[in-house]
Amino acid sequence: MHWFDYCAPKNLDEALNIFSEYGERASALAGGTDLILFMERGRLKPELVVEIPLCYPFVGLEIIDGQIRIGSRTTMRELETSPLICQHAPVLADSARVVGSLQIRNMATIGGNICTASPAGDTLPALLVLDASVKLVSKRNERIIPLQEFFIGPGKTVRQPDELLTEVIIPIPKERIGSSFYKLSVRRYMDIAIVNAAATIAVDEYGIIIDAKISLGSVAPTPIRAYEAEKNLIGKTLNESVLDEAASLAQNASSPITDQRGTAEYRRIMVYRLTKRVVMDAYKKAVAQN
Ligand SMILES: Cc1cc2nc3c(=O)[nH]c(=O)nc-3n(C[C@H](O)[C@H](O)[C@H](O)COP(=O)(O)OP(=O)(O)OC[C@H]3O[C@@H](n4cnc5c(N)ncnc54)[C@H](O)[C@@H]3O)c2cc1C
Repeated sequence: MHWFDYCAPKNLDEALNIFSEYGERASALAGGTDLILFMERGRLKPELVVEIPLCYPFVGLEIIDGQIRIGSRTTMRELETSPLICQHAPVLADSARVVGSLQIRNMATIGGNICTASPAGDTLPALLVLDASVKLVSKRNERIIPLQEFFIGPGKTVRQPDELLTEVIIPIPKERIGSSFYKLSVRRYMDIAIVNAAATIAVDEYGIIIDAKISLGSVAPTPIRAYEAEKNLIGKTLNESVLDEAASLAQNASSPITDQRGTAEYRRIMVYRLTKRVVMDAYKKAVAQN
């Protein structure tokens, strides 16, 4: 690995000053489970590694004005065990639960998962169906952008070199919703998703779908929402042909590639299967709540 300097600013202001001065010559360090590998492999060669401070706004999990605020240094383990997340955003807890191993989940953070911007990142489909936004802060300004606008390609985001991701913001759903997440991988643990998928479904008292969100990972350059499939579910109750249509439309939204984990053709078939699986599961949970 190359030589680099390390510093641990005490608070947000100190960290922003450093990033304002160093820009892309500095890298933020949260859990380090991606960054250290990127540096070992020469994919990133920061002059300065800057530890994200363990203080507000980078830490904390709370509800403010009907929204869940998650500090970017919140670990996967905190997400999967948080009563607040398990109650209001169980799909996020489910996705955090399948990341790496317990040791990895004790280190890996939500901010790191988002900023790495892997098309296969496990919390990303869950965050997309929850309509999450991210807060980016620099010395120049601060902005909140919807997560689906954050990713622009594999490993690429709209984050500027002097910006830090401070918080993830999730609106608490108004209706009662059911949600589901599924990760397809060769090994049960410590494996990258071949395909991952998440869905949230809201139904009225007659079981008619009034809102649907479907998201897929590892089947396009970025995690995606399957908007046409979602639209097609609205106003219907779920049966085999409605599920088939939704799964086919989700397939159309995907553009998978062949790599060491699976062929494009296999992934396309799995998009169909996983969409059916998560939509059915989310629908059943939504109906059970009414
Ligand atoms: C053995 C192993 C298994 C894994 N399994 C999985 C898995 O099953 N599923 C999965 O999705 N991932 C997996 N990963 C990848 C990794 O653990 C996750 O992506 C994790 O969430 C990264 O978080 P981190 O805190 O470690 O990020 P870091 O490594 O600290 O940072 C990752 C990147 O984000 C940037 N960054 C971090 N925080 C901020 C911030 N606040 N503002 C701006 N930039 C920031 C860093 O500069 C770096 O470029 C695995 C990794 C390993 C080593």
